[in-house]
Amino acid sequence: MSARIGEHADKTRLVLELSDPVNLRAFSLASPNRVILDLPEVAWRMGNPPVPSGRGLIKAYRYGVFRTGNARMVIDLNRPARLGETLVIPPSAGFGYRLVIDLFPTTQTAYESDAGWPADLRKREADAERRARVAVAPSATGKRVVVIDAGHGGIDSGTSGVNGLLEKDLVLAETLLLAKELRARGITVHLTREKDGYGPLRDRVAFARAHKADLFLSIHADAHSDASVTGLSIYTLSDGRSDREAAALAKRENQSDVIAGVDLLADNSVTPILIDLAQRDTLNKSALFAKSAVAQLAGVTNILARSPHRSASLAVLVAPDIPAVLIELGFLSNLDDAAQMKTQAWREKFAAGLATAVVRHFAGDAAAVMAAGTRP
Ligand SMILES: [Zn+2]
Repeated sequence: MSARIGEHADKTRLVLELSDPVNLRAFSLASPNRVILDLPEVAWRMGNPPVPSGRGLIKAYRYGVFRTGNARMVIDLNRPARLGETLVIPPSAGFGYRLVIDLFPTTQTAYESDAGWPADLRKREADAERRARVAVAPSATGKRVVVIDAGHGGIDSGTSGVNGLLEKDLVLAETLLLAKELRARGITVHLTREKDGYGPLRDRVAFARAHKADLFLSIHADAHSDASVTGLSIYTLSDGRSDREAAALAKRENQSDVIAGVDLLADNSVTPILIDLAQRDTLNKSALFAKSAVAQLAGVTNILARSPHRSASLAVLVAPDIPAVLIELGFLSNLDDAAQMKTQAWREKFAAGLATAVVRHFAGDAAAVMAAGTRP
């Protein structure tokens, strides 16, 4: 319900006021140094969350829904800090339940020897990682399957628009409209999220593979330091070559797991992957879809002036056997783009245009297969 930060010479104390007692788990992670507090799903009602001065051990913090049934607070540290015993103090002297987190200065070496994932969480992430890599047989129903991934969510808001529009809200609204359009065209659609919650990037990849997706669409919105930059861009997975701006974008979008406190590996960048023939075919299909979708959508929205089809090392696009693109709807840093993306009219027009691009992609795909003399 509220929070206080006490910055002392020998420790920094964070106190959270609660309406009810909670079970809490706290652990610390390195690179960057941060403390994770896992809670059951709670309603955050902090009207005026305190801002750390920068002199104490807490640099910044964020909180929100993590997964269904699970809330999380992530505390970024200014300096390495040892986590004291975390306590939930029962009501007394006019206070309700209080959760007390004490942080004590320590050395980076000592910090790193304590930091790490609890074993069960590590296992959960490792299982998801494995599921993301296991190949699945193609769908037997013959119906095309599209998985749409609304980027970010929950604790990770993504980019904030110049008009206050949050990327996570925009992309969810667009995803729901697109799902409706695709279903109306006879396509099976699964969504990685249908409300405001976070899912790790590798879970999103695993989800697409578990549903035997024929196409994976990750929906995002971009931001640029130059506020005049506007327009749609569509990214496919880079085979190693990507320009500086694409690399910066990949860093921003891959940062999602770091923001939500889920990255298992310290470095969340996608290492240049060894691309085998099967994956080369997947990349070709992804690029083909990206090009035709850009052409289709040119009549619906403005297109990034310089090369709207681009490639970058994006963690959410790594499934080796599912054509996948990441669509940046436009720039939330641009006044016109942000205003346009806020309107229902534009959102519906865009969803319809993209759905048409998907249907055409599948039609072309099937024709090519039939030309080769096999049944689709
Ligand atoms: Zn994004």
